[in-house]
Amino acid sequence: DQFDADDGSKYREITRLASPGTLLETTDEDAQYLAAVVKTDGGYGLAFADITTGRFLVTAVDDADAAHAELYRFSPTELLPGPELSNDDTFLNRLRERLDATHTLRPTDEFGPARARHRLREQFGKETLESIGLTDRDSPAVGAAGAVLAYVEETGAGVSAAMSRLQHYQPSDHLDLDATTQRNLELVETMQGGASGSLFDTVDATASSPGRRLLREWLTRPRRDRNELNRRHDAVEALAAAALVRERLRETLADVYDLERLASKATSGSADAGNLLSVKQTLATLPTLEEAIAGTPLADSPLAAVLARPNREAAATLRTELDEALREDPPKTVTQGGIFRTGYDDELDELIERHEELEGYFESLAEREKQNHGLSHVSVDRNTTDGYYIQVGRSVADQVPDHYRHVKTLKNSKRFVTDELEEKEREIMRVEEARGDLEYELFQALRERVAAEAELLQDVGRAVAEVDALASLAHHAANNDWTRPELTDGDALRVEAGRHPVVETTTEFVPNDLYLDRDRRFLIVTGPNMSGKSTYMRQAALITLLAQAGSFVPARSAEIGLVDGIYTRVGALDELAQGRSTFMVEMQELSNILHSATEDSLVILDEVGRGTATYDGISIAWAATEYLHNEVQAKTLFATHYHELTTLADHLDGVANVHIAVDGDPDAERDVTFLRTVRDGPTDRSYGIHVADLAGVPRPVVDRADGVLDKLREEKAIEARGSGNGGSGTTQAVFDLTSGSFAGGENEAEQAAEPATDGSGSSSEAAT
Ligand code: ADP
Repeated sequence: DQFDADDGSKYREITRLASPGTLLETTDEDAQYLAAVVKTDGGYGLAFADITTGRFLVTAVDDADAAHAELYRFSPTELLPGPELSNDDTFLNRLRERLDATHTLRPTDEFGPARARHRLREQFGKETLESIGLTDRDSPAVGAAGAVLAYVEETGAGVSAAMSRLQHYQPSDHLDLDATTQRNLELVETMQGGASGSLFDTVDATASSPGRRLLREWLTRPRRDRNELNRRHDAVEALAAAALVRERLRETLADVYDLERLASKATSGSADAGNLLSVKQTLATLPTLEEAIAGTPLADSPLAAVLARPNREAAATLRTELDEALREDPPKTVTQGGIFRTGYDDELDELIERHEELEGYFESLAEREKQNHGLSHVSVDRNTTDGYYIQVGRSVADQVPDHYRHVKTLKNSKRFVTDELEEKEREIMRVEEARGDLEYELFQALRERVAAEAELLQDVGRAVAEVDALASLAHHAANNDWTRPELTDGDALRVEAGRHPVVETTTEFVPNDLYLDRDRRFLIVTGPNMSGKSTYMRQAALITLLAQAGSFVPARSAEIGLVDGIYTRVGALDELAQGRSTFMVEMQELSNILHSATEDSLVILDEVGRGTATYDGISIAWAATEYLHNEVQAKTLFATHYHELTTLADHLDGVANVHIAVDGDPDAERDVTFLRTVRDGPTDRSYGIHVADLAGVPRPVVDRADGVLDKLREEKAIEARGSGNGGSGTTQAVFDLTSGSFAGGENEAEQAAEPATDGSGSSSEAAT
């Protein structure tokens, strides 16, 4: 099968169980994670291993949502659910909806912490668990890691040796991005599915697959750590300013091979001579990259430190060794010679020399026989059944000398052998076998030598990938006029002339400003359908995310108070396609945001309450706004078609209105022009009916709808609770839907608290 070594079965027999998470010969350049998730009373433990690169990460999280978010981030190809979860359909089905991972059940005891601990110590060294900060509290994480390792050992024939480092990460080092948000923001895949049009697809200008893998990781796991982000921004800035050097770097990077993966192949014994040559060539790019930046401003940038990180002496030594060993054009098989340079091994050289002499003997034999015995039509050849023979044309076959022994008659010729020929044949067979054995032995030793440097290869691979990812970000920034964001620990999010990173590549984009801080933390975004509300809000989220991935951002200037998470709720079309109730999904998502977001988070709400009757919907939107503003205090952008909500700005301190301007009076004329410009203040009206009009809904229906809307507004009122400075929950004002304004007073508030009439009843009225 595909795991059979190309070495040929004569030398080794590899039988492996193929499973999606333990495939070594993948052609997919994306990371290929095998994951395990374990649940205990204390929370969830997660482990992720990519056997093709040797990456092995573990973490622990508190709840199922967080576990889902991590699983979605890593997008494993295979998942081993722990004993508590293997029957948890809620957990697993939710995952299945979002992830294309094969679920593989493993014996319960493989997840046991004691056994796992033992296994991990064997693999990574005695003190590993302590040194990476895994304590007894993290037993679910340890259990998950142990189960992954056991599975790799069982199925992966030797690849576990490439996993030399266990990394323990804290989800809190990264931006909180729940699974829904990762999808809504179309980071690596659009809502329709498919990579094209995603953020990653747009900004990716990497030259190598390891660079691509790393860039994708940066975008899906943005950071909170200002130092790390400033380091990336410094490098991107320096690279963006040095176009020529950057191009030289990118040219060099285009020649690099995937060292992390080559390390795994060497370790598992499946690397061929070509792979070792690729290792050599890629190691050689390290000094080339260093030379390219030497004497340029980049030499003082963090890029220099990235390139200096791997042990360069060890890398140079290994490269020299490989260079001395390998010929430039090695064959695909490792058993047929031609791998090593002359001078690499004396014994091999002797065997090769002797082999060539013998080949020379056979090559010139026909000529000699012709001359010595006066034969015309003679050739010397070899096949598998007869070995070497002298073939003589039929017409002269009776003129052969006596010492020729006849072995076979063909239609037009006869075949003969001689004692000397047989002796030379035995010798060449001996030499060939000895040469093959020796060459294979030498090759294995060389491969083991490379395997022993797996960690070095991973370091170099990682450094080169980082240069690639940084150069890619710089390339995109320079070509699209992106700017370096200023990161602060404050609350402000100030974007001057911001653009949507994806939409701007295909559209004449109208830039917009954005300003949020503690005193202006909640923006209600109104405007007609299709005016650009979602684009504006996503743009805010993506600019923040890009900044915290280490990238420049599409804006004239940007000040980003670092956020701890981005939460989004947007239209749920795809959920509907999956047969889940839209409104239920909407409310689950809202619930998750209200529970998880903090005052340091950024929240994007694109319509809330649309999936239910009008008065239900408006009530929920209203209450959610108050809660987010008063309790959570997250920075929030909320697009709503409930025009009524805009009045909240007058009563809640941190709430402000913006709207997307349109030109033309929708009442007077049919064409409005979308200006795409965001302005302060609410829209002057709700445009829903206008859009119906635009869409060609018959005039009597449009007019009737106007009338119905007026009717719906009669004598209904809503109170605004809390004002942000304290949020005591006392009644501040009563909003009268009839007049469209607030009328103060406790008593009226009581009246207003009547249950809202059922909006769906009213809409059936509209249909008559
Ligand atoms: P809404 O959420 O108000 O319905 P969208 O954000 O979906 O509107 O935008 C509608 C269309 O307008 C999209 O095709 C989008 O590409 C385009 N658009 C939005 N904002 C801008 C802008 N600032 N400049 C140019 N085109 C824009």
